[in-house]
Amino acid sequence: MSASTSFQALLAELQAKTPVLWLNDRLGQPLPSDAPSTDLIADAQTRMTRCAPLLAELFPELNATGGNIESALMPADALKVALSGKGASDTSAWFIKRDDSLPVAGSIKARGGFHEVLALAEQIALTRGLISPDDDRRRLNTPAAREVFAQYTVAVGSTGNLGLSIGVMAAALGFDAVVHMSCDAKAWKKDRLRKRGVRVVEHAGDYAEAVAAGRAQARALPHSHFVDDERSALLFFGYAASARHLAAQLKDAGRQVDAQHPLFVYLPCGVGGAPGGITYGLKALFGAHVHCVFAEPVASPCMLVQLASRSDSPVSVYDIGLDNKTEADGLAVGEASHLVAPLMASQLSGVFTVSDETLFLNLRALKSSLGVRVEPSAAAGIGGPQWITDSPQGRAYVQQHALDMNQATHVIWSTGGSLVPPEALKAFHDHADELARRGESALQTSGFHELTYPPRELGS
Ligand SMILES: *Cc1c(COP(=O)(O)O)cnc(C)c1O
Repeated sequence: MSASTSFQALLAELQAKTPVLWLNDRLGQPLPSDAPSTDLIADAQTRMTRCAPLLAELFPELNATGGNIESALMPADALKVALSGKGASDTSAWFIKRDDSLPVAGSIKARGGFHEVLALAEQIALTRGLISPDDDRRRLNTPAAREVFAQYTVAVGSTGNLGLSIGVMAAALGFDAVVHMSCDAKAWKKDRLRKRGVRVVEHAGDYAEAVAAGRAQARALPHSHFVDDERSALLFFGYAASARHLAAQLKDAGRQVDAQHPLFVYLPCGVGGAPGGITYGLKALFGAHVHCVFAEPVASPCMLVQLASRSDSPVSVYDIGLDNKTEADGLAVGEASHLVAPLMASQLSGVFTVSDETLFLNLRALKSSLGVRVEPSAAAGIGGPQWITDSPQGRAYVQQHALDMNQATHVIWSTGGSLVPPEALKAFHDHADELARRGESALQTSGFHELTYPPRELGS
């Protein structure tokens, strides 16, 4: 089959919203010559460490961790057993990376968002002579500094979680914080921001339109900084800074990562900044021994279409006839980041897509096996290990790279949920229970007992 015929076959599967695992055959090629330096990963780590005492002062809930924005790595073998039925004979280890309970912002966006606002505050304070480079960053939380920050607008366009993270941090430092949201963003997110003194501006249309409108308004203002989710390097490196801590957590858990011990990481992907940054950080540490796989909704596979098309110009899910409608609001993105996609072309192992129904069933499995309740977007990665171990494409990947899956570590990145109000979480789980009941009765009436997972595979 020629490349173009197989791309046509892939397109047909995507258009039919059939869940697929797409493997990236450019994996391992060199990075583009203009790829940002990996020194910026260390810079971001240093910045977050330097600003930790400031964060502890700004947010009482960070006192316990000394201002560190980090999440637990939770053993998840109970989820493995629940989903795959694999028992003692399977010696791979599953973990959930609990960014759903990152402090203050309650989602993975705390990493990129806080980093960008802190970098901006430092830069303004340095140029305005409020601090010198080696000063304690708690000096950014003084009346003099706040008076200066109040002259600046920090704006962002967001479906919700990025807005929460940028808005809360910017307002806490005394900036004029503005969050542009699409109308479909959840009401509780808007309320929460308004309570913290953030200005929320609502836009008709989807996320991309909110971003565009926000960008245009911010450009028109003097002294304003627009956090650009589609091309921000500061966000990207805030996410990348997570890699070193994950490496330490794996070591503490007794998990090696090397040629004999592969590490798989499954990352829900919206515009690509969060999963892309984390991939960039992990690849810089572990090279070929880490295998990063993105998860996207069947209606919004923007990174998949961008990479699989091999196009240098933007391709959107609308271009291929998809509607970008999903309950996973953090992942409802039509077009991948132009900063991130070219960097992922040689670093990403692949992308799998997930239906909303599977999202909810996995949300339910996570709760029943581990007692963890997350938002739908955060459940997207859960099917990853089974795509790799049980699908023909996944097995071909394992064989091609000669991986010993008995020694594998699977990290499923859970990305948001702890700030979701209890009644909204309950609604997600009620819906999941209802889907599960319907699934069971469908099984009984059809007498079909082989409801395999993943549901259907590309090219099978
Ligand atoms: C934003 C978000 C993602 C994906 O991050 P991108 O940078 O948009 O790819 C995943 N999960 C949740 C809960 C998010 O809010």
